[in-house]
Amino acid sequence: MPLSPEQLAEIEAQRGQVQPTRRVVAPGMEEHLYTAYPVLDHGFVRVVDYMGDDAAICQAARVSYGKGTKSVQNDEGLIRYLMRHWHSTPFEMCEIKLHVKLPVFVARQWIRHRTANVNEYSARYSILDREFYIPAPEHVAAQSAVNNQGRGAALQGDEAARVLEILKSDSARAYDNYEAMISQDGQEGLARELARMNLPANIYTQWYWKVDLHNLFHFLRLRADAHAQYEIRVYADEISRIVADWVPFAHRAFEDYRMGAVNLSAQMVDSLRRMLRGEEVTQATSGLSAREWREFRDILDAPE
Ligand SMILES: Cc1cc2nc3c(=O)[nH]c(=O)nc-3n(C[C@H](O)[C@H](O)[C@H](O)COP(=O)(O)OP(=O)(O)OC[C@H]3O[C@@H](n4cnc5c(N)ncnc54)[C@H](O)[C@@H]3O)c2cc1C
Repeated sequence: MPLSPEQLAEIEAQRGQVQPTRRVVAPGMEEHLYTAYPVLDHGFVRVVDYMGDDAAICQAARVSYGKGTKSVQNDEGLIRYLMRHWHSTPFEMCEIKLHVKLPVFVARQWIRHRTANVNEYSARYSILDREFYIPAPEHVAAQSAVNNQGRGAALQGDEAARVLEILKSDSARAYDNYEAMISQDGQEGLARELARMNLPANIYTQWYWKVDLHNLFHFLRLRADAHAQYEIRVYADEISRIVADWVPFAHRAFEDYRMGAVNLSAQMVDSLRRMLRGEEVTQATSGLSAREWREFRDILDAPE
C-alpha cells in the first residue's frame, strides 16, 4: 500500500477543491490531477500541477494574442510539423509538476535528466520509511548474454527463491540497524544524515519533479524505450499515459516522430535506397560496421 489512509484523504480533499480561473485547463489532465498512480511495489506518480495544453503550444508557435487556435485540424497539423522539424521551443511552454515515489537506484538514473527542477525528501531531516523495492518473481532475471547493460530470462526455482530472500533479509537487516543507530532510547542516537548511508539503494525516496514538455518528451524517449531498465520504464510508461490525456496532439506526434521513428545514418539511407532500386546490399558493400549493419537489419526486419 503506497499511501496511508490519511495521505489518501489529503489527496481526496485536494481533488474536491475547485478554483475559478482564467487560465487554460486541459480536461484530460484535470481528471488525473493529484491522483497517485501506483508504480512498482511501493511507488507512485501523481500530477501536482501543470501549465498549458495543445493550444498553448500553437499559441506560442504563432506568438498570438488570443488562444492561438485557428482550427483543431490546423492545431494538430502545426504540432506535428513542429515535432517533425525539431522546432522544440513551443513545447517548452507547457509544464508539469509530478510527485514521485521511487527506489533510490531508479532516482539515480532519473536525476541524470538535468533539465528539470527537483526537490527530494530530506533523509537528513526526516526518518525514511521501511519500504524497499523487492522485484516481482518474473523480474528477478539473469544477466543478459547479449547486452551487458540488460537482463535475460527470469531466474528459476531455488536460485530465484534464494535471491529474493537475500534482497528481503538484507533490506530488513539494514533498516533494523538504521533504526537502532538513530534510536535515542538509552543512547544519544546517530544523526539521521549519517545513519542513512548504510541503507541499500532499493529503499524508496520521494521528490517533486517539474519539467517542461519538450524535456519531458526527451525523458520519455529514453526511459519509456525498450532499452531502458524495467524499473524506470514503468514510471515513464505511467507518465506517458497521463501526457496522452493532457496534450493528445503533441503526444500523438511524439509517438509518431520520436518513439515510433528510427534514426538512419547516411550510409543506412544510401543502403536503403539501393535496396529499393533492387540492388542486393550486404554488410561488406553497405559501408556499415558489423554492429551498425545488425542494428540496420533489426530496423528493417522488425515485426509489424
Ligand atoms: C539506456 C541508457 C543507458 C545509460 N547508461 C549510462 C551509463 O552507463 N553511464 C552513465 O553515466 N549514464 C548513462 N545513461 C545516462 C545518459 O548518458 C544521460 O545522462 C541521460 O539519459 C540524460 O540524458 P540527457 O543528458 O540528454 O538529458 P538532460 O540532462 O535532460 O539534458 C537534455 C539535453 O539538454 C542538453 N544539456 C543539458 N545539460 C547540458 C550541459 N550541462 N551541457 C551541454 N548540454 C546539456 C543536452 O542536449 C541534453 O541532451 C544512460 C541512459 C540511458 C537511457
